[in-house]
Amino acid sequence: MNQSNPININKLNTSRFFIVMILLMNLGYNTQCQNAQKKSEVNSKTVIKQNGTMKLYPLTKEETYVIVNKGTERPYTGEYTDVFKKGTYLCKQCHSPLYKSDSKFHSGCGWPSFDDEIKGAVKKTLDADGQRTEITCANCDGHLGHVFYGEGLTDKDTRHCVNSISMIFEEDAVKTSTAKAIFAGGCFWGVEYYFQHAKGVISTSVGYTGGFKKNPTYKEVCSHTTGHIEAMEVTYDPSQTSYEELAKLFFEIHDPTQSNGQGNDIGPQYLSVIFYLDDNQKSISEKLISQLQLKGYKVATQLKKASKFWPAEDYHQQYYEKEGGVPYCHKRVSRF
Ligand SMILES: [Zn+2]
Repeated sequence: MNQSNPININKLNTSRFFIVMILLMNLGYNTQCQNAQKKSEVNSKTVIKQNGTMKLYPLTKEETYVIVNKGTERPYTGEYTDVFKKGTYLCKQCHSPLYKSDSKFHSGCGWPSFDDEIKGAVKKTLDADGQRTEITCANCDGHLGHVFYGEGLTDKDTRHCVNSISMIFEEDAVKTSTAKAIFAGGCFWGVEYYFQHAKGVISTSVGYTGGFKKNPTYKEVCSHTTGHIEAMEVTYDPSQTSYEELAKLFFEIHDPTQSNGQGNDIGPQYLSVIFYLDDNQKSISEKLISQLQLKGYKVATQLKKASKFWPAEDYHQQYYEKEGGVPYCHKRVSRF
């Protein structure tokens, strides 16, 4: 038992020596590697190609293994295998767009799968053994993966099997665009009443437009000295509703055949007018007026190019919402 000690100590010393040596070698190797990588990063930022200068982005060791050395990441480990958000997949190395999310599908293979590429973005090359077809970025030649045909997984019968690490995903910006429309159809309280809760409507505002007086007041508009008409400006979400839907609503909540006002509200400030903001709104309004005329309505609604909309005094805004009750001058009648 005692004899074994020196041997063990020797063994231990020998082991320690080797461990230290390995560590030192590793350190040297890593430093060399890092230097080489730093050099290659500096060198690889811009590459001159025949068709101009191409920017290459620095790659990590793991990315280099796949993208440059044509390695394969382990299945089910990639970042994008189960991502199905709307957007575009770009090449990690040069940021060229490669695939749209529309072409991505769940194949169960453990790697992101696409059945089509963005036109011209991906280069296909038969492997040396003639067995598989490699796919690379057509811009920078970065390795992406392989493409397979005839598996019957999608209508396009194609599966681009792509390493997540070869790509960057850029999610589509969520569209929060809004659009506006301006309608005049008599007392603006009643018009707003029907629009403020319509599908896709974000907000409504009642006011004055079509005249020449800046910052008109209600009293001035009623005195017929401003040229303005009582109107409502609606802000809506075009992904939820359309100008046509809103214009149809407008024609159904007031009487578009009355030419001197609306109901008992008689006067130029109560006329039926569509203030169109662009040619598209104008042509949709013309189309709807024609449809009503074909049904026998003598439409009195005028089409005017929108001018500055002056919001009315606060006490006119969302009048029925605040005061309760229902409009005395408007009710919805189906006309389309
Ligand atoms: Zn690329």
